[in-house]
Amino acid sequence: MALVLEGKRVRDEIQTGLKPRIDELRRLERPPGLAVILAGDNAASEIYVRNKVKACQELGIVSEKHTPPGSITTGELLELIDSLNRRPEIDGILVQMPLPSGVDSRQALLGVDPEKDVDGFHPLNVGHLVNGRPGPRPCTPSGIMELLRRNNIAVAGRRAVVVGRSDIVGKPMAILLMHAHATVTICHSRTSNLAEECRRADILVAAIGRPALVRGDFVREGAVVIDVGMNRIASREEAARIFEHAPEKLAEFDRKGNLLVGDVHPEAAARAGAYTPVPGGVGPLTIAMLMSNTVQLAERRLLGRTMAETAPG
Ligand code: NAP
Repeated sequence: MALVLEGKRVRDEIQTGLKPRIDELRRLERPPGLAVILAGDNAASEIYVRNKVKACQELGIVSEKHTPPGSITTGELLELIDSLNRRPEIDGILVQMPLPSGVDSRQALLGVDPEKDVDGFHPLNVGHLVNGRPGPRPCTPSGIMELLRRNNIAVAGRRAVVVGRSDIVGKPMAILLMHAHATVTICHSRTSNLAEECRRADILVAAIGRPALVRGDFVREGAVVIDVGMNRIASREEAARIFEHAPEKLAEFDRKGNLLVGDVHPEAAARAGAYTPVPGGVGPLTIAMLMSNTVQLAERRLLGRTMAETAPG
């Protein structure tokens, strides 16, 4: 039987560890503050932001949400970001992606003060990541590293294959795995013979955004499979194809009219030694690491602690 890597358990562990640190900040100075910018209307982003704000409330982090319309210009967004950069009670600024089509996302990310860059997307912090220097790390990949560490899954010396090379997941994931001494291969849409590359993996990370693309023949028996994908499918035919042998999932589809599906097919998860479920695997960790980054940035600003001193442990 494969081990199910429950993200919710690790999220709870991480968040329990944050509570005394938040209390200390409140006692010595003030609670940490996170500002979230959600521009335009995007149903998925609204759910993500709602969950992030809820996590802040549960932990005692002060959060505020800014919801400019989809018609916002790059200049107006940069002004909003700058006003948050200048406010001393804000420790972290999160610009929810994707931004409306009229906004230059790269400019927006460059506008965030690197000291408040809670997602670790500013090029300066990307440089720190590549160099292995302390700094905020992108939340999804750093959450996956925590999941591996807290499940005692060895990384050093093992072959890791990351499918996906986005700036927010694939690339930082590959770098973190490399820093942890894995031998890393990065695959993408132009990779020839993807299944063969994936079969070499001791640790396979799928960050693709294509429902159930990773099939059984992609996975070496016993490998660790991390499914980052969050794909909402609304076609019953597609659901029936993917969940041919999982009647409970089909019943869930019939109840809801749609279903959240990962990038990993159930037949691939069945071959794994350990895998993350969707939902309940990687998603909760992303939020936990956002909370962790917010607390670390607040400790750096308010207590002069370095990020190396306060990395989760
Ligand atoms: P993205 O920016 O669209 O990147 C997708 C990557 O997958 C690209 O590098 C692309 O290759 C590659 N790809 C696409 N089709 C492929 C194929 N047929 N074969 C091999 N590679 C292929 O997506 P993302 O932002 O990294 O997100 C990936 C998935 O993770 C999405 O489902 C997203 O919703 C989910 N996600 C989940 C969380 C979470 O907290 N659980 C957080 C972030 C993202 P090219 O570069 O060649 O185009």
